[in-house]
Amino acid sequence: MGIMTRIETVRGDITEQQVDAVVNAANSSLLGGGGVDGAIHRKGGPRILSECRDLRASHYGKGLRTGQAVATTAGLLPARWVIHTVGPVWSATEDRSELLASCYRQSLRVADELGAATVAFPAISTGIYGWPMDDGARIAVETVRTAETRVTLVRFVLFDARALEAFTTAVG
Ligand code: ADP
Repeated sequence: MGIMTRIETVRGDITEQQVDAVVNAANSSLLGGGGVDGAIHRKGGPRILSECRDLRASHYGKGLRTGQAVATTAGLLPARWVIHTVGPVWSATEDRSELLASCYRQSLRVADELGAATVAFPAISTGIYGWPMDDGARIAVETVRTAETRVTLVRFVLFDARALEAFTTAVG
């Protein structure tokens, strides 16, 4: 099924993507943060945060666990949904790759549940959470390639030339 998924890499801003769902590099509180998270809430308006608060209260009292994903609507963004996922913080002493892979896999699972056919991802964990870009890109591309999903387009949206280069190389 993943064989039906087209993968593309673009330089740009995740908040501007005209796709069914954009993925947020959230933190476990679901209550906002910097980087992608800050940009999504800033441009998407208060509706997204309000839905995140409700999710927190109803299902995730202790926060969303690392590697998990959950959806809200997308407020004022062109996308229809935001899929919030919590990447692992990079560790030099512990291999957390499986948690990073899980972010991509679980986000695609949520996309399937929503019926979202086109999904844009940022480079999860490679900002504030410190994951090395080349490794993050390799894990992202490998995981999407091997995922069983009905998503037809995965667009990796990279903020700078360096990230674009890493992801484009990983796609091969
Ligand atoms: P994390 O906490 O998971 O590291 P960040 O949001 O800090 O998440 O960063 C993830 C990646 O997204 C970084 O490579 C960062 O440069 C990039 N980024 C930041 N803002 C945006 C944006 N508006 N659109 C796309 N990518 C972004």
